Amino acid sequence: MRFLPALTALSLTTMGVVVASPPATAGGNPALGPTATGYGGAVATVDANATAVGLDVLRRGGNAVDAAIAAAATLGVTEPFSAGIGGGGFFVYYDAKRKKISTIDGRETAPASATERLFIDPADGLPYDFNEARVSGLSVGAPGTLATWESAARKWGTRSLSSLLQPAARVAEEGFVVDATFNQQIAAIAPAFGQFSSTSELYLPGGAPPAVGSIQRNPDLAATYRLIARKGTDVFYRGAIGADLIETVQNPPIADDPIGDWAYPIRPGALTRADLAGYRLRYPDPVRSDYRGLTVYGMNTPSSGGTAVGEALNIIEKGLPASASTTEKLHYYLEASALAFADRNRYVGADTPQRTIRRLLSDRWAAQRACQIDPGKALTKPVPPGDITATGCTPATVGGPAEQGQSTTNLTVADKWGNIVEYTFTIEATGGNTMVVPGRGFVLNNELTDFNFAPTQGDAPDPNLPGPGKRPRSSMSPTIVLSDGKPFLALGSPGGATIITTVLQMILNRVDLGMTLPEAMAAPRASQRNTAGIQAEPAFHTRYGPALTALGHTFAPDVAELGAATAIEFTRGGGFIASSEPSRRGGGAAAVVRPAR
Ligand code: GLU
Repeated sequence: MRFLPALTALSLTTMGVVVASPPATAGGNPALGPTATGYGGAVATVDANATAVGLDVLRRGGNAVDAAIAAAATLGVTEPFSAGIGGGGFFVYYDAKRKKISTIDGRETAPASATERLFIDPADGLPYDFNEARVSGLSVGAPGTLATWESAARKWGTRSLSSLLQPAARVAEEGFVVDATFNQQIAAIAPAFGQFSSTSELYLPGGAPPAVGSIQRNPDLAATYRLIARKGTDVFYRGAIGADLIETVQNPPIADDPIGDWAYPIRPGALTRADLAGYRLRYPDPVRSDYRGLTVYGMNTPSSGGTAVGEALNIIEKGLPASASTTEKLHYYLEASALAFADRNRYVGADTPQRTIRRLLSDRWAAQRACQIDPGKALTKPVPPGDITATGCTPATVGGPAEQGQSTTNLTVADKWGNIVEYTFTIEATGGNTMVVPGRGFVLNNELTDFNFAPTQGDAPDPNLPGPGKRPRSSMSPTIVLSDGKPFLALGSPGGATIITTVLQMILNRVDLGMTLPEAMAAPRASQRNTAGIQAEPAFHTRYGPALTALGHTFAPDVAELGAATAIEFTRGGGFIASSEPSRRGGGAAAVVRPAR
């Protein structure tokens, strides 16, 4: 979303933000457009405040990691319903000097007491409705975001976490202008927000969402960031903030006088202070696949993103004839997505052995799956998962569920030394579990609803059932693509399971369909996650629907938009094309340090 700063406008202009495209507006505010090209470093996020903060860090000599953390902390203020310190995410880092890609798994963890039946109602033995599970303490995992920022700053940054939290604290204190997206995100979940005194005080002033154009401040979050800056992250994981977080989970702050009705009882959760104190980051190797001479690095488990994107690219590469038309390319994109999703649902969860991941990403497996695609006729969906113990063209059994969320946020940063950060982080649904921690100004995640509530794989084991301390499977797909060992493209998106297809489709658009990066970003999207109908944006349906329908594809009802991506392309000679959405989710904000060399 593109909030232009309110009171921060002053500081932003005095900070000397230089934006390549378009130029500053008459009022002196930086007008951050969706695309910026230039040199010296680049930032792309969904929000002008966050991009400006990240850019300022780069301009003052900080590196990509410093800028990414400062921008992420700002997104915690201006995009509080998508991400923040109440949630988790996956941080992918390319170190230019060592030519190495590393990752941080800051995914939330289930309580030590969690069982497979976490989301089964003891009253009737049936799974809870999604919203019943979501708006409860049960859905909250121990958050990994703050630990991620601290670890990234220590390992690869040049600034302290304390200093990187300051610009965001300032935005929280001084406020920003509410735009239509922010207003609508609250309106969409207002009946749940209205149940909690802390949430309604902050986000339903006078009983309604803050008006578009009004100034939104969050002094509690400013104080929270400053307390962490002073005392370190222990105050969150082992101290006063953590105590308040756990109290909120175990004793939801239900309002005496709720605003509106909520259909479900609000259940407490079992996350404890020991669970929070025991939170540990992981540092998995990235997954890797080769695509048309490029090397694609993505997130390992517990995300399914890297594996599914890599498997689908491998299948496309194996099966797609070089001379293919646009329709044929899209046909392969959709078929490969469905096959990769079937395998993901069957095999990929937090505990999947790495040899299974390697098998799914092998060329041999791609050949065993690609052989099922008929260039002239769409497969009947859902397609069964392949049997990874089999040889030859693969057989199978059942399909799986298809999730789609609209929360989460993504950012892409690169610096003048060539380091890159691709970071996707989230609180799961838009508005998370809808509880603001009283006095602390941040919303809790509902990440544990990313577990399957009940087995989905028939007689086969389900890789994504809840368990003690377990991380729920994610679809987040922060991706860095190298060409001849040098950075070519970094990209990622929110959108629940559609993240995988958005990242995949953007790579296809850029690499196979000959689009520029901004074109690949703006192009209409479609998502085939192994369901009967393709989910598509109206423009995709209109443009490609007739040709794809002729091949036997079917469409589900259109959706207004899929994803809200950010990306950077690295041009020869050390230049950057920073790209964010021109219009989805209100449009994003891209900027470069210098428009000219
Ligand atoms: N919780 C989701 C995941 O980790 C992301 C939610 C979203 O993007 O809407 O895959």
